[in-house]
Amino acid sequence: MEDCIFCKIIEGKIPSAKIYEDDRVICFLDIMPANKGHCLVIPKNHSKDLSDMKDEDAEAAIKVAKRVSKALSLSLGCQGFNLVMSNGLEAGQVVFHSHLHIVPRFKDDGLKIKWSHTKYKDGEMKEYAEKVKKFL
Ligand code: AMP
Ligand code: ZN
Repeated sequence: MEDCIFCKIIEGKIPSAKIYEDDRVICFLDIMPANKGHCLVIPKNHSKDLSDMKDEDAEAAIKVAKRVSKALSLSLGCQGFNLVMSNGLEAGQVVFHSHLHIVPRFKDDGLKIKWSHTKYKDGEMKEYAEKVKKFL
């Protein structure tokens, strides 16, 4: 897609530190890493976010994320990783080409990927579950 920075990376018009490529997916290092080794897994077909992604692309991307996460652990010695996907402006998405972040995590690395918590009123939790279920 024109004007999409990640499509340009896929087409090789913008350089990237690519670590994986197949017919559907590429994976490269994030230019502003939360930790060194922070990767982005993206489908080659342009879609703006998860709701817009073909099932086949979503499946391919999660499989690659799994494979890359193992490689991060073996190569960098991270003890864990966060798999993050922001969908929509309100969720903090900046680049509107679907992407999964894989952030390698190390003991005491001081990184904060946490949110604050809210509470349900009495009966409200069930109400929310029922509301959402109707649309599945
Ligand atoms: P998000 O906030 O989930 O949309 O994340 C977009 C990510 O893309 C950010 O973490 C950026 O650092 C990363 N990014 C933007 N441009 C590039 C680029 N040219 N190469 C690698 N990563 C990039
Ligand atoms: Zn794109």
